[in-house]
Amino acid sequence: MVTENDLDKLRTLQDILSQKIRLEHDIQEIPKLLGTQEEMLNRLKKTFIEKNQEYEKVKSAESEFRNMLLEAESMREKSEKNMDVISTQREYEALDKEIRDASEKEQQYRKDLQQKERLLSELDEQIKQHTGLIEQQEKELSERRSGIETEITAKKKQVDDLVKDENKLTKDLDSEVVFKFERIIRNKMGLGIVAIKGNVCMGCHMILPAQFANNVRLGEEFVFCPYCSRILFYEESESEEEFFDTEDAGALSDLDDIEEEELDEDEEEEEIINIDNEE
Ligand SMILES: [Zn+2]
Repeated sequence: MVTENDLDKLRTLQDILSQKIRLEHDIQEIPKLLGTQEEMLNRLKKTFIEKNQEYEKVKSAESEFRNMLLEAESMREKSEKNMDVISTQREYEALDKEIRDASEKEQQYRKDLQQKERLLSELDEQIKQHTGLIEQQEKELSERRSGIETEITAKKKQVDDLVKDENKLTKDLDSEVVFKFERIIRNKMGLGIVAIKGNVCMGCHMILPAQFANNVRLGEEFVFCPYCSRILFYEESESEEEFFDTEDAGALSDLDDIEEEELDEDEEEEEIINIDNEE
């Protein structure tokens, strides 16, 4: 016999299960919030490594230019000294060309060197910035991680408490009913016990065969809606309007629609009765 007390127990169980499911969902989802931050940290670290590699490359190019500059300088100085010891116009012209070439190279290498030095100081600045950002991000992440651990621990404790309440409630309920009830609440993320008014399930608004309403009213066993699987309890229908008090109520203004609906409903009733006969 299904008593009002049993139905109340199911309603309380429904609250407990909904809370438990929500908490379990949170426990799963919360750590994913760290994903974005972890990704950002990885990106920063990757850029940091790349900048360091680039720095090393520019650094070696810089010292190469520095050597070439020194070479060009000493070449020019040597040629300049030789100017003191030449005697012919031809010697003079050759030497003069050497000096000009060396000076041109010197100027070019000096420019290149300055450009590399600028690049190095920019890279150095960026590397310092990244070091700071990485440290900051790591700190935030570890704070967030421990915050999340605390939050999850608290939620797990809440789940444990709910499970205790759940066990107290379910110990004298039929375990199969409890199993089905929990499954429907999980699937529909909410209501597992709903009223049947007239012949209409208030969970899915389907019209059920009259025998369903009768069985629910008799209360000999738990009755599950054949459409949405929710447990049904009987509630006196105030008027015939309940039949149309669904999302489709707007169709009342259109007579054609009502006829169609009534036809559909007849078909549905037949379907259910057929299913019943097969069983
Ligand atoms: Zn239903």
